[in-house]
Amino acid sequence: MPPTHLADLAPAERKAAVEALGHKGFRAKQLSTHYFERLVDDPAEMTDLPARERPSLVSAMLPTLLTPVRHLVADDGRTVKSVWRLHDGAMVESVLMRYPDRVTMCISSQAGCGMNCPFCATGQGGLTRNLSTAEIVEQVVAGARMLRRGEVPGGDAHERKRPLRVSNVVFMGMGEALANYNRAIGAIRRLTDPAPDGLGMSARGLVMSTVGLVPAIDRLAGEGIPVTLALSLHAPDDTLRDELVPINTRWRVGEALDAAYRYFEATGRRVSIEYALIRDINDQAWRADLLGDLLTQRGKGWVHVNPIPLNPTPGSKWTASRPGVEQQFVERLRAHGIPTTVRDTRGQDIDGACGQLAATTG
Ligand code: SAH
Repeated sequence: MPPTHLADLAPAERKAAVEALGHKGFRAKQLSTHYFERLVDDPAEMTDLPARERPSLVSAMLPTLLTPVRHLVADDGRTVKSVWRLHDGAMVESVLMRYPDRVTMCISSQAGCGMNCPFCATGQGGLTRNLSTAEIVEQVVAGARMLRRGEVPGGDAHERKRPLRVSNVVFMGMGEALANYNRAIGAIRRLTDPAPDGLGMSARGLVMSTVGLVPAIDRLAGEGIPVTLALSLHAPDDTLRDELVPINTRWRVGEALDAAYRYFEATGRRVSIEYALIRDINDQAWRADLLGDLLTQRGKGWVHVNPIPLNPTPGSKWTASRPGVEQQFVERLRAHGIPTTVRDTRGQDIDGACGQLAATTG
């Protein structure tokens, strides 16, 4: 694992850590303010830390975790994919998407992924390792700094009235965050803790996406942080889902949906069902009807469906559904009373769209 960073620690632990280094405890708050509130990364700007103490505090509490390999832009600069190298050479990617009224970041929770979904580029490379809490958080802080520096165009006419910040974070980059549970929860706490202890984001702006690790979904429901849950379903029947999402052999469609429903009951947050539409594989009308039935059987108003046209990935024989078929799939679900919106995809041409993150150096 990487060196411990301030963002790995809860506020009381930060104080203990700086005291253990021989500094006054209140230095922890000053460092947190620089990191989470002022988004400063240059020690020269940390003028409230005595020059003598600064190098030791900064090297121990704010070690460099992510080194940029490159930034790729698409959508007239409004989408930025960053490729990062970690201290041990592992690579991860994050994507920042600026919309007129919000900024969404898609972040990685693991280098690689162990879930092995055949249509996802990350899944093809296997799992390298879990990210630390601070490695997860630092992706968001890096995006916040880019915004603060005016490096990302695309706000609307009202933007001057609102502070420009990352408003949404989705755990939809590389990795299965619920398989790295404690560190992912740590990251959620850092993102939602009020400044200067954390970034002060609203839990409502966060989306935890999962292949359906049932015990972890139940555990998340008990954390008291009402993030939105997204379940990557992709098929309503076990036969096909066993192939598309291999963990389905462990927790079946019905069990994953029951856990998602319990999550809704516990948090009041409407669950999102992710469904990558793959031509002639999972896009049949009968599958839309079966999905509609499975969702309405469990309750009303608890769920919406996000079909995503499949993004191409290297070596995969699959492609996106035809537009007419996609439309029919959406209409069938709506006929069951299920709110359904096709996910807008950004950054396809920079391999920054869903399922395309592979962190290759090429
Ligand atoms: N491991 C988590 C989060 C990572 S992927 C999960 O599986 O939910 C985020 C979303 O992108 C998931 O719904 C995933 O199934 C979807 N996805 C993966 N590959 C894709 C592709 N090629 N096209 C469209 N969506 C894809």
